[in-house]
Amino acid sequence: MSPRRTSPSSRNDGVADVTVLVLGSANADLVVAVPRRPGGGETVLGGDTVVMPGGKGANTAAAAGRLGCAVALVGAVGPDQYGDLLVRSLAEAGVRTDLVRTSDRPTGLAYITVTPDGENSIVVAPGANSDVSESDVDALAWDGVTVLVCSLEVPLATVVHGISVAASRGARPVLNLSPVTEVPAATLALLDPLIVNEHEARELADTFEGLLDLGPRSVVVTLGARGAAVVTASGVVEVPAPAVTPVDTTGAGDAFAGALAAGLAAGQSLVEAARYAARVAATSVTRPGAQPSYPGPDEVLE
Ligand code: ATP
Repeated sequence: MSPRRTSPSSRNDGVADVTVLVLGSANADLVVAVPRRPGGGETVLGGDTVVMPGGKGANTAAAAGRLGCAVALVGAVGPDQYGDLLVRSLAEAGVRTDLVRTSDRPTGLAYITVTPDGENSIVVAPGANSDVSESDVDALAWDGVTVLVCSLEVPLATVVHGISVAASRGARPVLNLSPVTEVPAATLALLDPLIVNEHEARELADTFEGLLDLGPRSVVVTLGARGAAVVTASGVVEVPAPAVTPVDTTGAGDAFAGALAAGLAAGQSLVEAARYAARVAATSVTRPGAQPSYPGPDEVLE
């Protein structure tokens, strides 16, 4: 990290070594195992609560950070123990956290119950993530930033503005369209790439090539164990994921997005970066958790 300069003109002033900005959410996942889901008005006793760092933005940034990419998360947490945990976890992954603002609202929380069949039921309380605003984008310095990655657990207007400013400042906008949200055509037209999983792709178009009709310059469709497909005007290129025995796929899509951004920032072509991201994400599914499962550069499976 470079030392911070004293000029207050921009919030990431003095972090010219950051090449990837991630604009997105940070949540603490509160996970409890239950024998069965409670019905209305019912109380069920569960196991001990496990608190895990999560949120699509934080996960994406952590994946890139672990790979050695100079990355910062632009987001918000609350003035509480969960916010402290999330910031600490990001810092441990090598992510710059000086653009994670402390909001008056509580840290975003995901309340997750897991039944013995492995199924999750999740309630998300976005809290501070709802506070990430266009003015947070306006406060950014863009010198040296080559890629902006967004996902949609922060307000759409903030993401739309972030993508527009990134493009005008010469940074490559990438959007992980998760959860699926209606995005203005003018925003879609700037994306290079739009990232969707197979399920989201099917919601949006009949064919992979049809996804280009939405307007993005390129699309990457993640295909779980089958890797990913890169869709451009020149055609569809499939990249494989290494064959692994999955242990926990939580956060695999975020690992993919973070690694793709790291690859692009390092000068890889989109197909090269997707190939790398498929290897990184496949490595992550061999280990438990989201952020703790993300590999360092020497641990990525071939
Ligand atoms: P999630 O919601 O679990 O974060 P997702 O639905 O957004 O994931 P997927 O397409 O399931 O995205 O997975 C993203 C990437 O993770 C894949 O492109 C692949 O590289 C890797 N991956 C996921 N599952 C497996 C698996 N079973 N074996 C190998 N790689 C996998």
